[in-house]
Amino acid sequence: MFRKIQIFVLAVATFGNVNAQKTKINSGERPKLVVGLVVDQMRWDYLYRFEKKFGKGGFQRLLGEGYSLNNVHIPYIPTVTAIGHTSIYTGSVPSIHGIAGNDWTDKETGKNVYCTADDSVNPVGSDSKKIGSHSPKNLWSTTVTDQLRIASNFKSKVVGVSLKDRASILPAGHNPTGAFWFDDSSGNFITSSYYMNELPKWVNDFNGQKVPEKLLANGWETTLPIGEYTESTADNVEWEYPVGTAKDPVFPYKNLLTDYATKKGVIRTTPFGNTLTLKFAEAALDNYTLGKGTETDFLAINLASTDYVGHSYGPNSIEVEDTYIRLDKDLAAFFKMLDEKVGKDNYLVFLSADHGGANAEGFLRTNKILGGFYDDGMEKNLGAELEKKYANSKVILGIDNYQIYLNQSLIKEKKLDEDDIKTTIINSLNKDPRVLYAVDLKKIGSSAIPEPIKTRAINGYNWQRSGDIQIVSHDGMLPTYAKKGTTHSVWNSYDSHIPLIFMGWGIKHGESNKDYNMTDIAPTVSALLHIEFPSGNIGNPITEVIGR
Ligand SMILES: [Zn+2]
Repeated sequence: MFRKIQIFVLAVATFGNVNAQKTKINSGERPKLVVGLVVDQMRWDYLYRFEKKFGKGGFQRLLGEGYSLNNVHIPYIPTVTAIGHTSIYTGSVPSIHGIAGNDWTDKETGKNVYCTADDSVNPVGSDSKKIGSHSPKNLWSTTVTDQLRIASNFKSKVVGVSLKDRASILPAGHNPTGAFWFDDSSGNFITSSYYMNELPKWVNDFNGQKVPEKLLANGWETTLPIGEYTESTADNVEWEYPVGTAKDPVFPYKNLLTDYATKKGVIRTTPFGNTLTLKFAEAALDNYTLGKGTETDFLAINLASTDYVGHSYGPNSIEVEDTYIRLDKDLAAFFKMLDEKVGKDNYLVFLSADHGGANAEGFLRTNKILGGFYDDGMEKNLGAELEKKYANSKVILGIDNYQIYLNQSLIKEKKLDEDDIKTTIINSLNKDPRVLYAVDLKKIGSSAIPEPIKTRAINGYNWQRSGDIQIVSHDGMLPTYAKKGTTHSVWNSYDSHIPLIFMGWGIKHGESNKDYNMTDIAPTVSALLHIEFPSGNIGNPITEVIGR
């Protein structure tokens, strides 16, 4: 027995040494470049549903060389874009980092607040204040990218790139080298005066190349013969919205270039939006000479077209499958480019998602799986009930992010009893067969709600920005605005179970089914870089990924 233990200890020690050489334990060394790839609305199961259709250099390379975490969930609700990107990069949750939704309602004014809107800054590269006046001013925590800037005495370069303003700005943090997003009015990448006063020459040059037109010139045809998309439903089903001016949701989409001439945003709902983003990211890499300096640089990339295509067509469409097949090819080319320009062992990549997405209502209904719409007539019915009891139907300001916002100024002005109003609404909702739970967000800690829903609601509740009552609908339920296609917001796995793969510098090969949270990504990257965790971090380094 003793001998056996000795041999085992020896084996571990030997293995440990090999590992130490590979992963440079405690050397303080850092990679030349970190590349964050956040694929919008990518469900974890896509890695395996589409696996046979992927080539060797993209997702298969990530799985084959990297370390894949198979059981990573989002530890808050609502599971939406702005919160996802923020939580990945801060290791934190809305109750702390302040980004409580893509938008929320200001409790004082009753006005809608967009997460990155900032009137005090000006568009740079665009005439539109709505599109260009953005900054991270509503973000209350530092990001891993901020921490890298601090750790390197601001010598590390950090660049955020996305079609979406929020998915570029929030990951890039408070003090990046640059953050750029797509302007639907011009078809250009732009920024704001928060970052710089004019677009760098290379951005103007890139915009001048008219890459979107080139990408859309041949329309959108399936990459493989359409009969080979056996993982998806038939092409023409009633629960899909066609892109642009297409009459039916069927391949090929021939009008994209003419659609683009009048509506630049059409490129978002095609796989070419991802191609465009990666081309722009490469231009940023070249022109900021990322990965070439003495300090670690960080390129935060969001691939957003997967979300737009998902919203229009739903997860079971050929359109979504083809979007991932094309993204796989784009990623393969991108990794190859990084191998050549930065060096294969010099960069660290992580790939994850800001949230998943539900199966379309029509898909679920047709296949006799649970589904439906949770909010059909809900606000009107509650309004009528409140009118009867309080002689006022405007007590509810609105329903957003599955939360009911009360009209606080009206309640104050009319001296209404807020607790009584909440009880009336909650009792009414709890009788609604579409609702699993409705709870007062202020009292959620003492509510009889099972884990993990309770913790996710507490983490998601920002008392200054979130609504007053949380609605947890039955499984599979969608809001009525997603009559076709799909959406995401809820705690259930289809929205909250995300892929997470690390690859490259300092990363072992392997996979794990242990449970982790989205908030563990930033501290894992921080640990690899030997830098301080972001200010609001609540996660932990995933030690099995880095072998220590
Ligand atoms: Zn979305």
